[in-house]
Amino acid sequence: MKLKKASFFLLIFHLVFFLNAQERKNIYIPDIPGFKTLKCDFHTHTVFSDGMVWPTIRIAEAWLEGLDAVAISEHIEYRPHSTDIVADHNRAWEIAKPIADRQGILLVKAAEITRQMPPGHLNALFINNANLLERDDVFDALQEAKDQGAFIFWNHPGWKIQQPDTTLWWDEHTQLLEKGLMHGIEVYNSNEYYPEALDWANEKELAVLCNTDLHVPVQIVYNLADSHRPMTLVFAREKTQEALKEALFAKRTVAWFDHTLMGSAEWLEPLFFASVQLEDKKVSLKNNEVATLSIQNSSDIDYQLELAQPTIAFSCPEKIYLKAHHTTQIELAGNSEEITDIKTLNMHFLVTNVFTGRHTNLVVNLKIENQ
Ligand code: ZN
Repeated sequence: MKLKKASFFLLIFHLVFFLNAQERKNIYIPDIPGFKTLKCDFHTHTVFSDGMVWPTIRIAEAWLEGLDAVAISEHIEYRPHSTDIVADHNRAWEIAKPIADRQGILLVKAAEITRQMPPGHLNALFINNANLLERDDVFDALQEAKDQGAFIFWNHPGWKIQQPDTTLWWDEHTQLLEKGLMHGIEVYNSNEYYPEALDWANEKELAVLCNTDLHVPVQIVYNLADSHRPMTLVFAREKTQEALKEALFAKRTVAWFDHTLMGSAEWLEPLFFASVQLEDKKVSLKNNEVATLSIQNSSDIDYQLELAQPTIAFSCPEKIYLKAHHTTQIELAGNSEEITDIKTLNMHFLVTNVFTGRHTNLVVNLKIENQ
């Protein structure tokens, strides 16, 4: 069928003027052996609860910033725009999902169960029907989420409005753990860090989460030109919803905010060594001589190192700053005749911006052959 002339021009107009080209920021955080490193934010809001943006904007933001996965987690119990936005609890996800699919963003179906402390606010991820979470009793709501296969985590445990003096772990949280109704905890939310939560994650074997809890457009809260939004790094077998869920339940997560990483050494160590490589295979260091070593950091993450224990028969800098996307040269100096017998030079460093506990840092051994 021939197009009428007017329709033809409309079609041309549409093709010429409405096809966008947009730039995405790439995040350089390497994969680790056996796993892809997915950059995720599991806590955001839109106008469908108390946020200020339309759901598709959350996908556009995530795509532009280089994220792999995002959750829109509307409050079940708090919907201040409900006079203007009349919809059920699944609607934000339904609106955003086709765009997320087109952009290659994993959109996790989620909701925020929003109660007084205890137990406070909890996000349920990978649910299939948010409407069924509208229950009087918080345990019933969480049990329903669990029955839907949800991964559940405690949001902003040290939020001052709910925990004004001390960040407390309540009996109700122990009950949640015992009933299998809590699998993770936010150690960082928006722009707040909760040190207690990192220790609880270790003690109680919870996944660490780091999320924005965005209500307004992302650029109002974060300086995206020079920095990034806080995110949860998840080590998944592949980039799919199923693999993401498996990885969260397996607690293969790390928190990344500002210039800081937090989590278990089990994942932080391989992430460090996937980011940082010694360019030289070996050195030839003798007593009273100096050798140069080049260390390349190919990731977006700066690493700050501080010598953790004395080196044997040689000396090296006490502090090293491995700037993102830079190569750092350091000098090693032989200070004993013993050095010729040492075949591997070991340098144990604390990574002072990478935390395995509230007061503990990741320790790495930079080692190089000496011939
Ligand atoms: Zn929230």
